[in-house]
Amino acid sequence: MPSNTDFLLAIEGLTVSFDGFKAVDDLTLYLSKGELRVIIGPNGAGKTTVLDLISGKTRATSGSIRYNNTELTTMSEHQIVRAGVGRKFQTPSIYEKLTVFENLEISYPWGRTVLGSLQFRRSEKVVERIYEVAKEIFLDDMLDEQAELLSHGQKQWLEIGMLLVQNPDLVMLDEPVAGMTAKERDATAELLRKIAKERSIVIIEHDMDFVAKIADQVTVLHLGKILKEGSMDEVRNDPEVQEVYLGH
Ligand code: ADP
Ligand code: MG
Repeated sequence: MPSNTDFLLAIEGLTVSFDGFKAVDDLTLYLSKGELRVIIGPNGAGKTTVLDLISGKTRATSGSIRYNNTELTTMSEHQIVRAGVGRKFQTPSIYEKLTVFENLEISYPWGRTVLGSLQFRRSEKVVERIYEVAKEIFLDDMLDEQAELLSHGQKQWLEIGMLLVQNPDLVMLDEPVAGMTAKERDATAELLRKIAKERSIVIIEHDMDFVAKIADQVTVLHLGKILKEGSMDEVRNDPEVQEVYLGH
């Protein structure tokens, strides 16, 4: 068994049972520091549930999730965010009526709530970080734009930016390129590769061409279990994986 300290995230024997149905079943998965891991698998495989378990949204029935050698399964969602785990959901949840700048500002770790962030003084440090992130997510020319006017892809980027402002060591994204144009997908691939230089990333994604562009390692989930783990090529050419995808 690998030693804990080499990994940012060590998931061992993770199981969650919903009324006897095991959505995640004895899952073991290790994520290195600086790794970009993609989880793929047919609908209902348990992918989103894995992120729910890591982020504390769903409680594990058994098993362990260690992050920087800290056990997450007993921590609250809020504590897990504070420990440095950021998670983006499938649908963007930005504040439509606020500007890009304000959305990023609100996400700054000093003021998580709308009220809290209006109360703190805009320090230079915060503004600097917002400009930095805005540039990373290709929105530095749109800081004063109201968020509802952004394209769907730009909204996804903004939400990624709202995570980055918090400086997480682990970023988790659920289908980040869904609904994006080809051009936006390419830009997102570039963005995620850049982010991964300083952080670890777990991405759930369906778009295989996109996965091939970004993944270090791919984990194929099926019926709550790992069907295959390897490079995109290894995974794509695996008969069992092909079977599972054709079967759906
Ligand atoms: P994926 O993201 O791979 O499509 P999910 O993780 O969303 O799959 O779901 C895996 C399975 O677990 C599905 O059969 C789903 O209906 C079930 N499931 C997920 N969350 C719950 C829940 N809170 N209660 C009951 N069943 C759930
Ligand atoms: Mg899902």
